[in-house]
Amino acid sequence: MRYPPPMLRFCALASGSSGNATWVASETTSILIDAGTPARTIVDRMASLGADAEKLDGILITHAHADHYRAAGTLTARLGVPIYVDPTVDRALKRRRGRSSWRRVVEPRPLPERIGDLEIHTLDTSHAHPTTDGRTVGFRVSHGKRSVTALTDLGSFDLTHIAALKKSDAVLLEANYEESWLRRKLSDLRFARQWDYLMHSAGDRGHLSNDQCADLLIAGLRDSQVPVLLAHLSENHDRKELDNNDYETASTTVRRRFEESGMTPPPLHRTYRSGSRSAGQASVVLEIG
Ligand SMILES: [Zn+2]
Ligand SMILES: [Zn+2]
Repeated sequence: MRYPPPMLRFCALASGSSGNATWVASETTSILIDAGTPARTIVDRMASLGADAEKLDGILITHAHADHYRAAGTLTARLGVPIYVDPTVDRALKRRRGRSSWRRVVEPRPLPERIGDLEIHTLDTSHAHPTTDGRTVGFRVSHGKRSVTALTDLGSFDLTHIAALKKSDAVLLEANYEESWLRRKLSDLRFARQWDYLMHSAGDRGHLSNDQCADLLIAGLRDSQVPVLLAHLSENHDRKELDNNDYETASTTVRRRFEESGMTPPPLHRTYRSGSRSAGQASVVLEIG
């Protein structure tokens, strides 16, 4: 007996402050959310999944931080992949000096409502600085009745994010730091140089902690079957003292919070950094049938 092919495939090719790229594909349309890791990593990790980067139909950019757009210029110049980005982000990146592959992005397109047979729902998030960086967004991507949502880099969440999760069959959500790790560093003079960054991470324009990630999942997930990729983990830096999280801690905190709420935790999966020392790889491919 032949099973029908999955309607949607969803995978974090790389995730974290060294570079982000998430692949979403139907049978006929293949897109990336962000291209912040070297182009070679994206091409190789797609190939390891049996997917061809040359067949990408578009790249959606979430915001004006290099770990989300770094390879966009290279991929569009080499492979002719269209880049979709909010005009405020394009303007912010064009204003910046220095070397950036963004200068190779010619004729970027505004964020679309559809690419091929994928519907694109844009979700505003609070993270990058609106005047210097422009808009910050996440996406829910749907195909027929199936949807996946990717949200990283959000300092806080609101009802629109909860509503997106309620419609989703799989979720990629940031679990950036463990609050007790951050608190310990903020009370330790040896980490004084990191304090500004740590305070920023914990703020409303920073990142979600493991507990905030759990709060959003508990509020939003439709049921305990919806798989979750824990993303943008602050782990496996080249210098261990920069780590504010690891996958074991993040997944334990999220599971414990579900259990404390009397709910069955969803299946959790890890994502991997782009950097070489962490022996990175693509995450599991979630197949939504
Ligand atoms: Zn980021
Ligand atoms: Zn960011």
